[in-house]
Order: sequence, then structure tokens, then C-alpha cells
Amino acid sequence: MVDRVLVTLDGTVRDPDAPLLSADDIGALRGDGVFETILVREGKACALELHLARLRRSAQALDLPEPNLARWRSAIEIAAKEWGTEREGQLRTVLTRGREGATTSRVTSGPLSDAPESTAYVLVSAVAERVNKARAEGISVITLPRGISVELAQNAPWLLLGAKTLSYATNMSALRFAARQNADDVIFTSTEHRVLEGPRSTVVIQRDKQLLTPPARNGVLPGITQRALFAEAERAGWECQYKSFFTADLITADSVWLLSSITLAARVSSLDGLRCSAPDCAPEIVELVNRGIARPWSQSDW
Ligand code: PLP
Repeated sequence: MVDRVLVTLDGTVRDPDAPLLSADDIGALRGDGVFETILVREGKACALELHLARLRRSAQALDLPEPNLARWRSAIEIAAKEWGTEREGQLRTVLTRGREGATTSRVTSGPLSDAPESTAYVLVSAVAERVNKARAEGISVITLPRGISVELAQNAPWLLLGAKTLSYATNMSALRFAARQNADDVIFTSTEHRVLEGPRSTVVIQRDKQLLTPPARNGVLPGITQRALFAEAERAGWECQYKSFFTADLITADSVWLLSSITLAARVSSLDGLRCSAPDCAPEIVELVNRGIARPWSQSDW
């Protein structure tokens, strides 16, 4: 059984242990690029079209060349198939601005490229151990200030707040900070004490038959797992809303969830040290997410 699969955008399956990036790749030098993380289940990439649509939107936000989605779709399908059906996998699509100077003096066309100057590949690896535990037992979470206002995204588009860029160093740092406080994860809050998102997840709160998530205009990444949940939940008679809410609303909610493509639905089982008990509808929410990501999506749904 393979432990990693690497496919370049031309559809070539490569040795995952062989070097691939150039030392002067701007993705490595500056984190200047975009990515997606997609769950592989039964040899298929879940909610693929939504991920492709977001990849395209993130690339636009960074003024990267338009990704060739047909090539991405094909490379992803090859990688997912190669990974196999036996276990879940974490599939990442990586698209960087390419090698330093490539857009002006050096043109590096070839199998790695999307546009000639870009670096583009798909990597599948095993799902982390923590994922099964988070799905089954929930997660302990602390709130941390992100130091930004919910107004910022609209006033400062250069901050790329709604794009999935490769610059995740502060997100990973927040998770290490949480680990030092014995917490599994983080919910970022704005300067107005409004809830934003997790470093790698969307926040959804549940009250009775209502689900709420912060709107993208507040400077959060539009989540695909949350989108999938809302689509299924609405069908099942839930009221789903994109609405700003405060840190205090996390405490009074019936349940709080961190949603993401690999972990799917992780219920917050403790928040800033306070225990949160599971509501009766917890299994239903998990089921709705699972159904949602398996649904046949089209890019126009994004
Ligand atoms: N917000 C951030 C900052 C993320 O990094 C992620 C996923 O990695 C999400 C939200 C959840 O998005 P999705 O459900 O599309 O994985």
C-alpha cells in the first residue's frame, strides 16, 4: 500500500521521494501560491467541483494565471485512483507562482507547469491520527484574538483574507500555541469579539433546528464542508444562516462545530476550559455532513 502519491499537472505519477521543487520556487520562498485540501474517500475526491471552483477563485485573488481546471480535475482523479479505495486520504493541490524570475526572464515550461511559469502538483498522504479522535470524541478549543476587525476584508483586499493561500505559518503557530495550553484547536475572534474561523476550519453553531456560520465578508474562508452541511440540512428542514455572532454566542449555543474537508465535523467538547455536552442532534449533523460531501456538486454551486 502506497503511503504517498504525487502527480504533476500533466498527469504523470511521480516518485514522492524524489525532489520536485526548485530552490527558488516562490511558493517556498514566500508562500506565494494557493492550495486546496480534499478528502479522498473510496478512491474519489469529495466535493471536487467545489474545491476546483475555490482554487480558481483563490488564484484570481492572487493574480495567478487562470488554472486549467480540466487538467487539475484529471490530475486529481489520477492521484485519488492511485491512492486506492482501502482508506481515506488527504489530497492537496498546490499551485505556486513558480520560479523566481520565470515570468520575466526565465520560462520554465514542462510537466510541472499550469501556465508556463506556475508550479502545480497533487499530493496525497494518509489522514492524520488526530482526525479519527476528533470525529469520534470531539475537540477541546480555545478562543484566540486574530487582531483584525470584521471590516478589514472589504477594506483591504490585498490581505487575501478569503483566499486559501499557502501562507499558513500564523495558523500553524496558533495551533502550536493551543497545544501548549492542552487544547486541540482554536477559534479566532475579531477585535469586536465576533467569531471568525479556526486556523483550518469553519465555525458553525447550532441552536435548536438552526445552524449559523459567520459570513465570508467578515474575512473568513468560505468553507466547502460548511457549504455541504447547509445544503443537506436545509433539505432536512433546518434553518441555515450566514450571520455574524459573538464569542458569547459560542457559550449559549446548543453545540459548536469546527468543519473542514478532512476532519469533516468535529464537535467542540470544551471551550476555553468549559465543558460542552453533546446535543441529541449531534449524530444527525455528522450524517448531514457526510451526505453533503458525497453529493454531486457542480461549479455553479460555489
Ligand atoms: N477556514 C480555514 C482558514 C481553513 O484553512 C479551512 C480548511 O482548511 C476551512 C476554513 C474549512 O474549509 P473546508 O471545509 O473547505 O476544508
